[in-house]
Amino acid sequence: MYDIKKIHQANSVQDVLRIIEENPNTKIISGGTDVLIKMKERKLKDVEIVSIGDISELKGISIDGNGTIIIKAATCFIDIITNADILRHIPTLAKACNQIGSPQIRNIATIGGNLCNGAVSADVVPILLVLDAELHINNVNGEVRIIDVNDLHTGPGQTSLDDGKEILTEIHIKKVNYQGYGFDYFKYGKRNAMEIATLGCATGVKLNEEKNKIADFKISYSVAAPTPRRCRSLERLIIGEDVSQDTINLIKPENIEELKPRDSWRASKDFRLQLIKEIGRRTAIEAIRSQGGM
Ligand SMILES: Cc1cc2nc3c(=O)[nH]c(=O)nc-3n(C[C@H](O)[C@H](O)[C@H](O)COP(=O)(O)OP(=O)(O)OC[C@H]3O[C@@H](n4cnc5c(N)ncnc54)[C@H](O)[C@@H]3O)c2cc1C
Repeated sequence: MYDIKKIHQANSVQDVLRIIEENPNTKIISGGTDVLIKMKERKLKDVEIVSIGDISELKGISIDGNGTIIIKAATCFIDIITNADILRHIPTLAKACNQIGSPQIRNIATIGGNLCNGAVSADVVPILLVLDAELHINNVNGEVRIIDVNDLHTGPGQTSLDDGKEILTEIHIKKVNYQGYGFDYFKYGKRNAMEIATLGCATGVKLNEEKNKIADFKISYSVAAPTPRRCRSLERLIIGEDVSQDTINLIKPENIEELKPRDSWRASKDFRLQLIKEIGRRTAIEAIRSQGGM
């Protein structure tokens, strides 16, 4: 059923990098909930795998002295959903993780796998885009490349990671990108459980002291373009505006250059255009309300 040529055991990040360099066609496997499906569907054939699921240096959540939240790449969703620091500072990340798959999936699937799989529907991505998360990527030469999560996705199912040479190790969320912001994430699916997003939207809002102006605004969508995307054209329109229904009404496809929704068997293009407006507005209102506005 699974066409696996060889399974490598690795004890450290360095070990994984050595194995993938010495053995071309070796795939990293974390929770395996995407990789094993691809193998079963024979989209991946004749591969060797190296598991990172038991490497302790790739697991856990911490906050450093500057208030940066650090999530290690092989941390499972259940550990994010239940983490006290995440629930205190960025509960919307926990909310997004809690909508992934089923309890069984959330117990084994990882945040790193969700990012590196490159899926346009990945639930963790829209909120990480508005959090301007930084990704720490280690390579076979012992170097660490740091990229903005907004630069990770290069096409459908494609990322800027060099598969045979690099591993995602950490996700950093700086204090300046979460403190003082309200966030929300809305996943639209045809049913509530075990459903990937037909369209997803995350919003981050910072208000002025009087709570009557939008000091900062960030919005991203999944499944509305070939990759999950921030909508900077819309952000520019909304920053500095009053907290009002008129400002919320600016959230509409006509004001968003970055999105190109398509027809698919899950939803028509027209329905997705309607969702862009509807769930964009809902998440913005929710994020504003969480900061005491509206
Ligand atoms: C029944 C079911 C329901 C699902 N529902 C959802 C859902 O609702 N929402 C959603 O977003 N997803 C869903 N998924 C997809 C999947 O569970 C997630 O994408 C998950 O986060 C993948 O994590 P993983 O650890 O299992 O990744 P894996 O399958 O182990 O790996 C995925 C990819 O990432 C690479 N990779 C993993 N970790 C690293 C790393 N640290 N560095 C470099 N490359 C790495 C692997 O080589 C592989 O290419 C579902 C899957 C199943 C089977």
